[in-house]
Amino acid sequence: MDERYDFKKIEERRQRIWQGEQTFKVTEDPAKPKYYCLEMFPYPSGRIHMGHVRNYAIGDVVSRYKRMRGFNVLHPMGWDSFGLPAENAAIQHGIHPSKWTLENIEFMRDKQLKRLGLSYDWDREVTTCLEDYYRWNQWFFIKMFDRGIAYKKLAYVNWCPSCATVLANEQVEDGLCWRCSSVVAHRELEQWFFKITAYAEELLADCDKLTGWPERVLTMQRNWIGKSTGVEVDFTVEGSGGKLTIFTTRADTLFGVTFMSIAPEHPVLESLIKGRKQADEVRAFVQRVMREDKATRTDEKREKEGVFTGAYAVNPLNSEKVPVWVGNFVLMEYGTGAIMSVPAHDQRDFDFATKYGLPIRVVIQNAEKSLVPETMKEAYIENGIMANSGTFDGLSNIDAMSKIAEYIEQRKLGKRTVNWRLRDWGISRQRYWGTPIPIIYCDACGTVPVPEKDLPVRLPMDVELTGRGKSPLAESRSFRDTACPKCGKTARRETDTMDTFVDSSWYFLRYCSPRENKAPFDKKAAGYWMNVDQYIGGIEHAVLHLLYARFFTKVIRDLGLFDGDEPFQNLLTQGMVIKDGAKMSKSKGNVVDPEFILTKYGADTARLFSLFASPPERDLDWSDQGVEGAYRFLHRVWAVIYKHSAEMNDVRPAGAEARGDKLYRKTHLTIKKVTEDIEREFHFNTAIAALMEMVNEMYDYTADGVDKKQLTVLRSAIDALTLLMAPFAPHFADEIWESLGNRGSIANAAWPLYDPEAIVLSEITVVVQVNGKVRSKLMLPAGTSDRDIEAAALADPKVKEYTNGKTPKKVIVVQGKLANVVV
Ligand SMILES: [Zn+2]
Ligand SMILES: [Zn+2]
Repeated sequence: MDERYDFKKIEERRQRIWQGEQTFKVTEDPAKPKYYCLEMFPYPSGRIHMGHVRNYAIGDVVSRYKRMRGFNVLHPMGWDSFGLPAENAAIQHGIHPSKWTLENIEFMRDKQLKRLGLSYDWDREVTTCLEDYYRWNQWFFIKMFDRGIAYKKLAYVNWCPSCATVLANEQVEDGLCWRCSSVVAHRELEQWFFKITAYAEELLADCDKLTGWPERVLTMQRNWIGKSTGVEVDFTVEGSGGKLTIFTTRADTLFGVTFMSIAPEHPVLESLIKGRKQADEVRAFVQRVMREDKATRTDEKREKEGVFTGAYAVNPLNSEKVPVWVGNFVLMEYGTGAIMSVPAHDQRDFDFATKYGLPIRVVIQNAEKSLVPETMKEAYIENGIMANSGTFDGLSNIDAMSKIAEYIEQRKLGKRTVNWRLRDWGISRQRYWGTPIPIIYCDACGTVPVPEKDLPVRLPMDVELTGRGKSPLAESRSFRDTACPKCGKTARRETDTMDTFVDSSWYFLRYCSPRENKAPFDKKAAGYWMNVDQYIGGIEHAVLHLLYARFFTKVIRDLGLFDGDEPFQNLLTQGMVIKDGAKMSKSKGNVVDPEFILTKYGADTARLFSLFASPPERDLDWSDQGVEGAYRFLHRVWAVIYKHSAEMNDVRPAGAEARGDKLYRKTHLTIKKVTEDIEREFHFNTAIAALMEMVNEMYDYTADGVDKKQLTVLRSAIDALTLLMAPFAPHFADEIWESLGNRGSIANAAWPLYDPEAIVLSEITVVVQVNGKVRSKLMLPAGTSDRDIEAAALADPKVKEYTNGKTPKKVIVVQGKLANVVV
């Protein structure tokens, strides 16, 4: 063992050994319980950041801990490697996306991730931009096409008229093209969709099965799916006889409708305003609103704006005519694109009505019957008694809700219905760096899927990326022009590629058998490894990625390939890494490059710091002192072990005979604490704090030298400490493990177990009084008899001082805790 802790030498050596001995390679082993630990795979941007370090360090502790507990652990890593940045790099620097991506992967894998000492089985690496992976995206697409789950329809895309190209949402900045700052327009294009709505009910119901997920994420999933039960009611457009259908969950407020609002993109809008004096104003408003993205439009804090169309619609319940407005907050995708507005009982409508001077009518009265529109300061959203609602007056609004729904159905004014917020998943991208959609268009045969035997449809490498004009694949004649698989005549390929969320929707299954070439994955291997026992990633994926992966899993189940309904048993969403109160980002100039820490302090310090600074689900506040502290701790552990390393060689660790020894007790208390903290929601920070305390105790214990018996206790403490540190600082622990004379990596050693009898309190404190005044304290072995306590009290020098040599009258011992000497 070297005298000084030399992280560079140690970490390089350990990584070489792990690689050479294939320490983390795993295969299915039915004799062992399995554990599948997965961190969300990264996009190969070129460099890892501190968020990655934290994410992977958490997963690595879990994996190494489970391995030491006897599990057969699957811990893989791969690359979510299709996507826009590679294409942008190509446009800006003239590098082919493939070259850019593969070089980034190589750098991140070999020069960054491997330096962190993560226990991945690198033989299972999955790279989504390679054809051995994306061919299966195409295969799934065809299966879904055959079942009607993949289908085509018209949908809006962002369109830059100056670049003459479709833009991704990320390429639209404040309504302007990211390249040329032209105002982005909307265009309707035929696009491919996955019918995720067919699984809406199941995706919602199965949230209840996900007991290992954070409640916050489940709430986000449920809200995104957004099931609401209510009624659809038809309002007649005055004059034209056309209909505007609205959906509401609040049938009890139908008599309080004082205006309607429709979406700017509502198809009937043009017919409503045609020939009216409001037409120009409305069209200008619509154009302005359509430039904003939908998230902005529906943001609660966003100012609600609208304009009157000049048209009126008739409320079928009371035959009243109400004005029809266009509102920036109404979306075509949700509900029917038209909403009824009840300002008395909805705050948004109240604000809108107040702003534009529209009438307010109370239809639910409070208990005091005191609500008057003129004096209301806000909407009344509580329950109450029906008013101004014809024959329903006097009912409670809860009863009225179902009574009015019945009434509507009997009179055929509308119907009860369920509405979903969830829309079908649009997967078409008019881009190059993605999975080609395996469809061929033939004038004679129509839309023809590429036969399975012809997969993969390869991305051509000879394209030119300019960022202008048609999508690159549409410009590639060698790609586009093909023969119809049915009739052999000249035909065209689909030139759209798939949303990259498709890639990440099933990669966890691919890891189970990554080199399988007859199917997307081997069913038996997936049967052994799935489900993912612990999934770890950022909260930003709480909705789309997780929802799509759940959807794919259900589709794959229905294809008969997998026996399960859900992919992820337990989910941990780790917090962000922040510095100076803000998320690390280039624009804020507060980024700490992991490279810097790896070079200055080493991987074990980087890991230890990121795990110690806060519990995983909370934000981690970067601190230079924290990093220094982690580094110093490793030196401190090293020093105390080094000091005794020469004497350790022939020393057997202490066992039960050492119960009662202070350090022996601390050792077993620490084993208990670290184990429980890891098991209890991965509280690594308190586990590491316990290790630090134990090391302090070791320093105390050895301060004045140790005798032979104490040496055995010290040996058992060092053994336990090394094992307990192995998941957190694996290079460090492995090096010490070897120097202690052990063979094989500590990664395969058994996790220590604590001796319950060793942690029972070994000493008691007895307070000694003389004539009722506290004069001394005694430390005695637990279980000392009252007679021995009495003797010890009388023999105490301080007590003797106060008794002045007189014979005490008596000594009273109370519950083994207090001795009162009465003189
Ligand atoms: Zn442009
Ligand atoms: Zn044909």
